[in-house]
Amino acid sequence: METKEKGSYKAHVLVLPFPAQGHITPMLQFCKRLVSRGVKTTLVNSIYVSKSIHVDDLNSSINVEAISDGFDEGGWAQAESPEAYLTKFCAVGSRDLANLVKKLDDAGRPVDALVYDGFLPWALDVSKEFGLVGAVFFTQSCAVNNIYYHVHKGLLSLPLSDSTVSIPGLPPLEPWETPSFVYIYGSYPGFYHMVVNQFSNIDKADLVLFNNFYELEKETVDWMAKLWRVKTIGPTLPSMYLDKRLEDDRGYDINLFKPKSAMCMNWLNEKPRGSVVYVSFGSMAEIDAEQMEEVAWGLKESMFYFLWVVRASEEAKLPEKFTDDVSERGLIVTWSPQLEVLAHESVGCFVTHSGFNSVLEAISLGVPLVTMAQWTDQGTNAKYVEDVWGMGVRTRQDEKGIVRRRVLELCIREVMEGQKGKEIKENAIKWKNLAKEAVDEGGSSDKNIDEFVAELIRP
Ligand code: UDP
Repeated sequence: METKEKGSYKAHVLVLPFPAQGHITPMLQFCKRLVSRGVKTTLVNSIYVSKSIHVDDLNSSINVEAISDGFDEGGWAQAESPEAYLTKFCAVGSRDLANLVKKLDDAGRPVDALVYDGFLPWALDVSKEFGLVGAVFFTQSCAVNNIYYHVHKGLLSLPLSDSTVSIPGLPPLEPWETPSFVYIYGSYPGFYHMVVNQFSNIDKADLVLFNNFYELEKETVDWMAKLWRVKTIGPTLPSMYLDKRLEDDRGYDINLFKPKSAMCMNWLNEKPRGSVVYVSFGSMAEIDAEQMEEVAWGLKESMFYFLWVVRASEEAKLPEKFTDDVSERGLIVTWSPQLEVLAHESVGCFVTHSGFNSVLEAISLGVPLVTMAQWTDQGTNAKYVEDVWGMGVRTRQDEKGIVRRRVLELCIREVMEGQKGKEIKENAIKWKNLAKEAVDEGGSSDKNIDEFVAELIRP
């Protein structure tokens, strides 16, 4: 075995995200914060992801490796079910991850710690096998994870039977405000198993990391901190959007879809301040065709400018000739540079599916929200946006589960120009400042990352 490149770095951390955009992004961003503290990082992608990503000037100080998830040709979409995907990833991934640790060791770059995605709890066993520090990384909110923890422990029995769900550290929730896998018991059993199983071995993890900041979910963090060594380390937006201390941290670097950057930014540049409604439902949600039509007409009838992300796989659901009909006021793209868009002064509000990354981005950039939760954790995030953080309004669905065009239009109006909109905007600015403070020197997340790094340095 070669000797470690002594003195050139403090420790070597492997970072293993679940292979999806909303997981790779925050974990890669976390790598950058570690690198800035003299830690060597290696991001581990699945072979399929590593073949399909668009890498924009990935910070060269982050190493990238790939392991198999068992579906090298098509990833998640190639598996016949979520269960089949997760089972195979566990078997093949454990073996490949162990081989990677050995390979790095043999190459004189021994690994000190493994930061693994909560969706991949088997990775902790690999870290223990090699005596590494094992830190689980959650990309969803503390509230959502606390609900799953309570389900895992049997402290919240399913199907839900009471009209109010009470979980320590959380406000009382109505059943529909809990994650869809909890509220609609039996829906998507594979996903349900994945989110609940995150807690199967958490007591053995050395650290529990959240892409979040303490001030945002204090009560829940404090409660969880009684169980585990919890550290909030986010928001993991590029430094140049927040504290501006890492000059080369300007973007997310890895995109699973190619953004129409010039088209979006040129279009936004021509619009007045605060006049545009930005609409995106993230990288995964498949919107019901009827819902898509309601969104289309709601945007048109609201009379605001709008920039709407409709992924290529969703485009066929747009009403016929809609794109041409609205070309005076609306721009529809298959993927946007979302951070740049949210940071642009023309954007007045964000109609979002409330994926946690999108919500954190809006919080960090002070953009008011209109939420249209679709599934998984989004309904709980939306509850917090409206009732806890006060930085947006929730659209309500009808009995068919559809948000009607008029409902969407009224919510957009309320945020863009209504009385409540003023208060929402003030709160959005308040959260933006707190997010920046958290990652700034001496802030809660900054200190937590320092403490994490200090633990990696072995005598
Ligand atoms: N995103 C983007 N361009 C788009 C839409 C989304 O860059 O047109 C990014 C967005 O900034 C966020 C991620 O994709 O970082 C979506 O993550 P989120 O957790 O919000 O939703 P998910 O895709 O996991 O449902």
